[in-house]
Amino acid sequence: MSRLVIFSNRVPADGPPSGGLVVALQSTMDNRGGLWIGTEPGDEEPPDTLIPRQGETFDRLTMPLSRAEHEDYYLGYANSVLWPMLHGRVDLLDVSSGQRATYEAVNRRLAKLARPHLRDTDILWIHDYHLIPLAAALRELGVTNPIGFFLHTPFPDAGSVQALSHSDSFLRWFAAYDLVGLQTSRDVARFLDAFRSAGAAQLISGRCIRWQDEIIRVGSFPIGIDADGFRDMAEDAIRTQTPPLSSHRLMIGVDRLDYTKGIPNRLRGFQTYLRDHPAEEDRIAFVQIAPPTREDVGAYMDVRRELEQLSGEVNGEFSDIGYVPVQYIHRAVARSAISGLLRRADIALITPLNDGMNLVAKEFVAAQDPEDPGVLVLSKFAGAAEQLEGGAVLINPHDPASVADGIRKAARMPVGERRQRHEQMYDILRQSNGDWWADSYLRALEASAVIRISNLASLGQGSLGPMTSPLAAFPGKL
Ligand code: ADP
Repeated sequence: MSRLVIFSNRVPADGPPSGGLVVALQSTMDNRGGLWIGTEPGDEEPPDTLIPRQGETFDRLTMPLSRAEHEDYYLGYANSVLWPMLHGRVDLLDVSSGQRATYEAVNRRLAKLARPHLRDTDILWIHDYHLIPLAAALRELGVTNPIGFFLHTPFPDAGSVQALSHSDSFLRWFAAYDLVGLQTSRDVARFLDAFRSAGAAQLISGRCIRWQDEIIRVGSFPIGIDADGFRDMAEDAIRTQTPPLSSHRLMIGVDRLDYTKGIPNRLRGFQTYLRDHPAEEDRIAFVQIAPPTREDVGAYMDVRRELEQLSGEVNGEFSDIGYVPVQYIHRAVARSAISGLLRRADIALITPLNDGMNLVAKEFVAAQDPEDPGVLVLSKFAGAAEQLEGGAVLINPHDPASVADGIRKAARMPVGERRQRHEQMYDILRQSNGDWWADSYLRALEASAVIRISNLASLGQGSLGPMTSPLAAFPGKL
């Protein structure tokens, strides 16, 4: 088996995995070994070399970033330009000069330092929006290995892509990959549409286009979790956790405090629910865990202030002796404790405005007791909704009445319906777990690379027709 080399912004520390990307990839790396390369914040003048990091089962190398690189590449271009753009928040774009140049320079430096560590037979898998130009930089250095990319965020609509002043170079970065992996079929449709809107694109198949003389292959590979492992952790956790004192039904939200997660929207929806259901027996205690993230970026401070103000407002309006409607915990909580809380919860309220997948939704389903499962109330804009639409209660996070209606439906759902919905979702989680995600992506990458190397010329002679909008294939889901 070829050695797998993963590239991502951060390299996992030794110990239990945290964060969606690491959770999904670590078991693959634990099983097959390989090399994981990433960056880390460094000093004023960090060494121009990769540093080995401690870890069992696979090798790890990191490139320390200078303070200026961290500012302009990580906080600046990746998190203040690409992140909002990828989530369709072009109103938040901060396109200051110089940041894009640093972003590309960091990718080129990483390619240069990684090059001597690569073998001819390696398979390279690059992850997420921090490193989109890395394949182009490696190809410039003569790397001909199979190189795949996986985008963990949503792929945006064509209009958002065009809000970048260099949208053509953004699209061109993808052309250096043998296979671009996205979370959902809706993302694939948007990806193809972005190229079509940029002009001169021809559809070769539903997963392959020719654009400005480049052949680009794409597919959807929904990221999964180890559902049985998470269920076991949740069962262990409730044995050791102190149960909550509240006698009310428990509703939970767990997210990084990010403006894409729609946390203020969920509080407005809960406020509407409480206004519409004043009876004591309808009371629900809502626990929102939202640890700080990227606090150096202005838009994150704004959402924090909004959340604090809203939770104070809801508590002021509805608290009673023995009843506090909203408990807001602004810090990271251990993964096992989260699994226990998810298991205890009667409802999970997950309302992103736009989300690549949302693993918390899957973790909630995995954590449930199959005999008495809780109900997942899920935004239709989470990637997870594409797989879980049959079992979750889908809502529109922009409409407080829709959120409130979802909460009401979940709170009143009979146990028979809860069991049936849970079983359906759990089956899907088991069929498409984290190992399945990595295996199916890597198989498709190897097949794409074989086509590129052996058959590129003849592929170009195929029957190319003018490209119609791929969005037409997903009329109900957009
Ligand atoms: P994102 O990758 O955008 O943060 P996901 O829901 O896809 O969102 O993945 C988040 C991962 O981080 C999940 O595995 C979740 O359990 C974990 N996580 C989220 N919030 C917290 C928290 N408050 N404390 C600890 N882990 C968290």
